[in-house]
Amino acid sequence: MQEAINRQINRELYSAYFYLSMSVYFESEKLKGFANWMRMQAREETGHAMRLFSYMAERGGRIIMQDIEAPPIEWDSARDVFEHTLKHEKKVTEMINNLMGIAKSENDIEAQKAIEWFVNEQAEEEETAEKILNDIKERGLQEIDKELAERK
Ligand code: MG
Repeated sequence: MQEAINRQINRELYSAYFYLSMSVYFESEKLKGFANWMRMQAREETGHAMRLFSYMAERGGRIIMQDIEAPPIEWDSARDVFEHTLKHEKKVTEMINNLMGIAKSENDIEAQKAIEWFVNEQAEEEETAEKILNDIKERGLQEIDKELAERK
């Protein structure tokens, strides 16, 4: 369980890195709203890592910091970015479900409670990524950019 949570902390930090890299891409495309949205998303991912970090600390688990993988740095378009975002979040959902499976097999009730929050969060993450991806397919980028600028 401990090993799996350590892996998840690393993956959440990677997610933050991944979205920061996307933010850099959008800045270079002069899509400031998209860039802002990605920065906020990165902050949220750091929050996910910290949530697990605190959980481990509270339970006296051993936290081991490992290398964070470098994210991709180039994308073809906003659509390409959000296709990758959705794919990434689906992968994270798989990891969270796997984590829940381990918690259940070890009969670790505390861990199950902590992971439950992430199960709900992942449903939201996938929904949001899917919504923006659909918006990109159907509407003008500038219009969406204005809306995404408002995320705080
Ligand atoms: Mg996350």
